[in-house]
Amino acid sequence: MPTMAEELEQTLQLCNKCGLCLPGCPTYRVTGIEWASARGRVALLRSALLDKKLDLNDLNEQIFNCLTCNGCTEHCPPGVPTGEIIFRVRQELLRQKGQPWIQRLLFQKLLPNPEMLYKASRLLRLADVTGLRTLARKTGLTKLVGDAGKAEAMVPKVPASEGLDAVKRMVKNIDKPKHHVAYFVGCYAPSFAPERAAATIRVLNKNQVEVAVPDFVCCGLPAAGYGDMESAKNLARKNIEIASEMNIDAIVTPCASCSSYLKDYVKLLADDPKWAEKAKEFAGKVKDISEFLVDIGLNTEMGELKRKVTFHDPCHLVHYQKIKDQPRTILKSIPGVEFVEMGEADMCCGAAGSYAFKNYDLSQKVLERKMGNVARTGADTLVSSCPACIMQLACGVNQQKLPVTVLEIVELLDEAYRNAKGND
Ligand code: SF4
Ligand code: SF4
Repeated sequence: MPTMAEELEQTLQLCNKCGLCLPGCPTYRVTGIEWASARGRVALLRSALLDKKLDLNDLNEQIFNCLTCNGCTEHCPPGVPTGEIIFRVRQELLRQKGQPWIQRLLFQKLLPNPEMLYKASRLLRLADVTGLRTLARKTGLTKLVGDAGKAEAMVPKVPASEGLDAVKRMVKNIDKPKHHVAYFVGCYAPSFAPERAAATIRVLNKNQVEVAVPDFVCCGLPAAGYGDMESAKNLARKNIEIASEMNIDAIVTPCASCSSYLKDYVKLLADDPKWAEKAKEFAGKVKDISEFLVDIGLNTEMGELKRKVTFHDPCHLVHYQKIKDQPRTILKSIPGVEFVEMGEADMCCGAAGSYAFKNYDLSQKVLERKMGNVARTGADTLVSSCPACIMQLACGVNQQKLPVTVLEIVELLDEAYRNAKGND
């Protein structure tokens, strides 16, 4: 087995130190610090892994404050995959140091079990309805747990919800369906945004798509992001097994992070002889919702919406899946919508999954830059397509008191279909 240094040697040597990645790197843009850029991170890793002049354990901050957004790779002539390199190094650090108990609990117990995940979310709801969360915030208790405590304020109030079972009950039979899909609901919507799950199903139905809601588990990206590849692989195998028993044309999700990682199962399981082929078949069916709707020919029988709309590209949509035009095609198809492009629309908003829970201050700086770009558009509606981005953007809009509504693309489409003449 090659060591990590041997594995990464060629890729690290690709960097020619040109600096063309600097404008695309959010952590560099907001700090101006060389080691917070792709060039700086690659140089440090080269020094630690190839020249053995630095100890990898001293680079914890540089390794874990990368957003893994892939913004740099887009700008990099030799295509250095800094995000991928960082993922690989995190994996090695986890192998050497082991994993904190909270991550083991999350990745190995809660994420493979949507029911347990839902019950955990109810504890948070209990803290909301009893006022415990507000009290902890007011008394400064949350600040005692560092970045995670500060980031707690970003988590919206937990709504009443009955979890995945309730999403399943939203499914309706439709007349003459043209497509049959499995809806990959993801971990967030059943507990935190059931109304978005309902909007997704209605939008698909309006496009003659019959929807099934299977018992998929987490896509595995949160575990992989912290280097726990075994948990990510176990989750992937479970999802592949579930889909293999279904007669479907596609696996569709409105979460860009999920669609991106589900497509990545090909790489994740490439070395597993039993699962490699099945992973390819599974990933071949995965579609982000905007990609899917444009592919099948979007139903444009919509009512008018008087909104000035801008779009934030989630990194997992634009940088990982190269999906940029489809959300814009959809938004421009809605009657009455005035679409306005935002500066740096494809630059990370600082959400990056649970990044704020470990790097709160840097995440906020990246968010402030994004909010400046949003404000300059003069839009009254900010649309995106990833629950983590939506949570982060909504938080930014609240903090800056911008007169802007933050919506998932399916929510806006749902509103347009509901406004159509003769709609029930
Ligand atoms: S992945 Fe994102 S944060 Fe990390 S170095 Fe590249 S652009 Fe910067
Ligand atoms: S653009 Fe690519 S090659 Fe140039 S410094 Fe950045 S990572 Fe290195």
